[in-house]
Amino acid sequence: MRSDSDDDVVISPPTPLNLQIAADALLRGELVCMPTETVYGIAADATNPEAVRQIFAAKDRPADNPLIVHISDFVQLEDVVSEWTDAADVLANRFWPGPLTLVLKKSEMIPNEVTGGLETVAVRMPDHPVALELIELAGIPLAAPSANRFMHLSPTRAEHVDPRIAERVAMVLDGGPCRIGLESTVVDVSVDPPRILRPGGISRGQIQAALGRPLGQLPPSDVRRSPGMYLRHYAPKAPLEFVEALEPDAVGLGFGTPRNDRQIRMPDDPNAYAAGLYAALHRLDAGNPAVIYVEHPPEEPEWEAVHDRLRKAAEPSKD
Ligand code: AMP
Ligand code: MG
Repeated sequence: MRSDSDDDVVISPPTPLNLQIAADALLRGELVCMPTETVYGIAADATNPEAVRQIFAAKDRPADNPLIVHISDFVQLEDVVSEWTDAADVLANRFWPGPLTLVLKKSEMIPNEVTGGLETVAVRMPDHPVALELIELAGIPLAAPSANRFMHLSPTRAEHVDPRIAERVAMVLDGGPCRIGLESTVVDVSVDPPRILRPGGISRGQIQAALGRPLGQLPPSDVRRSPGMYLRHYAPKAPLEFVEALEPDAVGLGFGTPRNDRQIRMPDDPNAYAAGLYAALHRLDAGNPAVIYVEHPPEEPEWEAVHDRLRKAAEPSKD
């Protein structure tokens, strides 16, 4: 799906007809871009290895970087996981639908292509009416990573879906700007105590409060267990550098009054900051700046996910 202009992505409103067309395409093994509350995803039938392989090709994503499987109700879990733990039960009941991904033993129906060869699978129920309706109409769990090329910024609006991805999917469904704007928190509940593999939309404090006990620590040697933990990731094209305060003519994200039209004032609430972060970086990056400067966000624990994404975006590119 491409328009005349190379960079314009054709987006479709989520009408009942479009949703049905998208669901049929998924059932035929094609790809669809769908909105979720975290970021826009590129979705395929999670039970169809050939369809899942197309996601990796479209994103240029390494085959050992596992995908998150999206479900629309608890009954569907039976198709996805082969084991359910007490911690999974507590967290799913508390946070689903929502930006929390649980890692559990996979079922037979989930092919190795989805899990990068792991015996575990990552699963979540997204809190977005369009995603839930699409999954329900298709009647299959959907594997869906973010609709960007590997390492790049995740799209938080339909217009920000990468054109090279949009041309390989049957449809890009519009769901407006993403409410959370950062990827989900990934929690491994196949081990005890559970542990966070990736910080995200639900904070460590919220998860510990729900469980009523502390989460485990991830041993550094285990980093490869969650390949989303690459040092560089979620990055704009321009290098990103941290500063205490933006210079008057700098391009960047700050907390004070902007002093030129390529400075963006970010909210001082961590959730609001997260919701606007990728769109702000996307906008600045479009002007091809030499550097994007970022004023240090506060160090409080609620800022963990924002710090994680900014650190990964600031990691120097190897190419
Ligand atoms: P995304 O890149 O947003 O699609 O999120 C997928 C991320 O979830 C991966 O990069 C991993 O960090 C994590 N993940 C997915 N499946 C697993 C799994 N089976 N075990 C551990 N981490 C996983
Ligand atoms: Mg991603």
